[in-house]
Amino acid sequence: MTIAMRSAMALQGCRTTSIYCRLACPAGKRMKPENRVYFSSHEEARASGYRACKVCKPDGQDVEPETFFVSSYDSPLGTYTLVSSHMGVICMEPAEEAGTCLIRWKRDGICLQRGGGYNSALAREIDAYFAGKLRQFTVPLDLRGTVFQLQVWEVLCSIPYGVTRSYREVAQALGNPKATRAVGQAIGSNPVSIVVPCHRVIGSDGRLTGYGGGLNRKKALLNLEAAALPSVAV
Ligand SMILES: [Zn+2]
Repeated sequence: MTIAMRSAMALQGCRTTSIYCRLACPAGKRMKPENRVYFSSHEEARASGYRACKVCKPDGQDVEPETFFVSSYDSPLGTYTLVSSHMGVICMEPAEEAGTCLIRWKRDGICLQRGGGYNSALAREIDAYFAGKLRQFTVPLDLRGTVFQLQVWEVLCSIPYGVTRSYREVAQALGNPKATRAVGQAIGSNPVSIVVPCHRVIGSDGRLTGYGGGLNRKKALLNLEAAALPSVAV
């Protein structure tokens, strides 16, 4: 809801209880007309010594709670949890790791709904990816992070299929070659595995180093991409 709409919202208060309500509050209907007063804002109500009704919460935010769509996806590398919003894919994580996110979102008031959103579109692309037939994902992403994290994840998305980069190369691409440690942390917090290809970042000595989904998964993804690339005739 915009600020303009909020400021136009009228509120009612009850003289005997000193509680103020939204006009549509069910608790407010019991108010006797002679006790009813009106306010144009909750600031005005509070300044008059009224406190907010616990039923209609007139001081609360007017935005609708956001809905995230949650699905399970069975891949050759185990079950993943897919999560998307109305805007795009929010998260793709091994099911055993997604639980903490789901609990956090629920606590933050996000409405979790089974299926829907971009989950089927994502599942179709992941199917094609595991079949070796897809190299570039087109499903929209709704990545949420700090400015730095978003920059790092954008660099990850620019690493071509079947190619690896070192943490230092990613830091260099950001114009900050000394930031390998921060880059490593941002890569580790990538919410959409496989699609945002953090598995393509390895140690400068060629070792696989860490991976949120486990090194076996990282190795399998790199092997899959190497095998799907057409062999060049010598
Ligand atoms: Zn109320």
